Amino acid sequence: MNGTATQDAVRELLIDGKRVPAADGRTFTVVDPACGAPIAEVSQAGPADIDQAVAAAGAAFTSPRWARMRSADRGRLLNRIAARIREESDDLARLESLDVGKPLSQAKADVEAAARYFEFYGGVADKLGGTTIPLGPGLLDYTVREPIGVSGQIIPFNYPLQNTARGSAPALAAGCTVVLKPSPEAPLTPLEIGRIALECGLPPGVLNVVPGDGAAGAALAAHPGIDQVTFTGSVATGVKVAQAAAANVVPSVVELGGKSPAIVFADADFDAALAAVAGSAFGNAGQTCSAGTRLLLQRGAESFLDRLVEHAASLRLGPGASDPDVGPLVAARQRDRVEGYLALAREEGATARAGGGRPADPALADGYFIEPTVLTGLTNDARTAREEIFGPVITVIEFDDVADAIAIANDSSYGLASYVWTRDIDRAMRLAEGIRAGQVYVNATGVGTGVELPFGGYKHSGWGREKGLETLASYTQVKNVCIGFGPRD
Ligand code: NAD
Repeated sequence: MNGTATQDAVRELLIDGKRVPAADGRTFTVVDPACGAPIAEVSQAGPADIDQAVAAAGAAFTSPRWARMRSADRGRLLNRIAARIREESDDLARLESLDVGKPLSQAKADVEAAARYFEFYGGVADKLGGTTIPLGPGLLDYTVREPIGVSGQIIPFNYPLQNTARGSAPALAAGCTVVLKPSPEAPLTPLEIGRIALECGLPPGVLNVVPGDGAAGAALAAHPGIDQVTFTGSVATGVKVAQAAAANVVPSVVELGGKSPAIVFADADFDAALAAVAGSAFGNAGQTCSAGTRLLLQRGAESFLDRLVEHAASLRLGPGASDPDVGPLVAARQRDRVEGYLALAREEGATARAGGGRPADPALADGYFIEPTVLTGLTNDARTAREEIFGPVITVIEFDDVADAIAIANDSSYGLASYVWTRDIDRAMRLAEGIRAGQVYVNATGVGTGVELPFGGYKHSGWGREKGLETLASYTQVKNVCIGFGPRD
């Protein structure tokens, strides 16, 4: 299959290099969030299928074809996958856009990011060396970095292409095998990456893709046959996954939510800041963990707010395929959740300077759309300002000076990303030093695709790091070898 919009055949699980139905025959329907129409029927993995997939990944891990593959060949294989992803870019982008609802140009950027992950980690596969430790005469001590084993990966709905690549590419580069469970709300492109990997020569069982619901995720996280878990999703689920992994004494990486501050000073380059703040908060309909959804605005910079409001009101909504500015949310339940927060915001005394609900356009009535919304009149104590909404909603909070901005930025249970806009280098550096978050961008946002940059949370935004070279620590473990030698006579 190559990304056709509608397909009669059920898209089956990918286990041990084969397409297979779920053991109990169950399937689920994936809908187009722009209109609610069904677009695909997908086999639904249950615990029995997770067992099969973990067994396949375990066997593949020690199979000579994978375990004895030279690291340079692993790297070449990952680069072939990257090239194929680029060759199929148009089809993959269309499918991602249809499945998640995101504007086509954003889906295209996601395809490129997915290719970059395979390319970046393809270049790393043959560089995972160890060290020698100088103990002195008669002793040779060295370390080797070995693949950790079977990686269980559970991903959310918002960036299925990127998340598939972000977890599987470094795991494969390290020599691990993978069981990947996509979200039931966006399972289509992960299955396509599984197909592409196989067609590029990845041995059967090395990458298994098993879409399913929370029960399948729970079965994977708790499975005694996995050696490591990488989870991306909500805090509540992440806690359960980390507990399940801990019970088996295997490490976990949990990439969770955020309520990231975008801090705009009165001296900032407003043109650059506006594009970045709006792009971060409204891109992907606000369903981005690292979105800068708390706008901290310096008193005296009110004209920035006026421009943001005007910009938000001018954004065009529509189905992802028409490449609008803002697409629908992924599902009715996600739209309902955001509407719940908008109602709460009103109760908390907020004013919607832009947006505030569903669009009036009758052509969009069947889709899960929410207008880009700018809320003022709240303090950082409001639940609306503290909890992750995961929709196109910015909360505006005013501050006076650097100390005030740092205090408000850090007054959050999250600490995923942060964005600072000022022309004053001293201020910028004080903020970079003072903010407790995994990423601080100064006069920049989402530089490139960010593949090279370590990414992960402080506080409830999670632990461990993905992306960059840092993620390789999750997929390798260090063995120390100490050898004593002669003279024995
Ligand atoms: P979610 O936690 O509901 O689901 C995430 C995944 O976990 C899905 O595949 C789901 O099927 C699975 N799951 C559900 N219950 C489970 C259980 N008990 N055990 C194991 N797996 C289970 O999250 P979501 O609604 O799909 O995604 C939105 C959340 O993801 C937001 O909070 C967002 O911030 C977060 N997110 C974080 C990052 C990051 O890198 N930090 C990236 C994207 C999304």
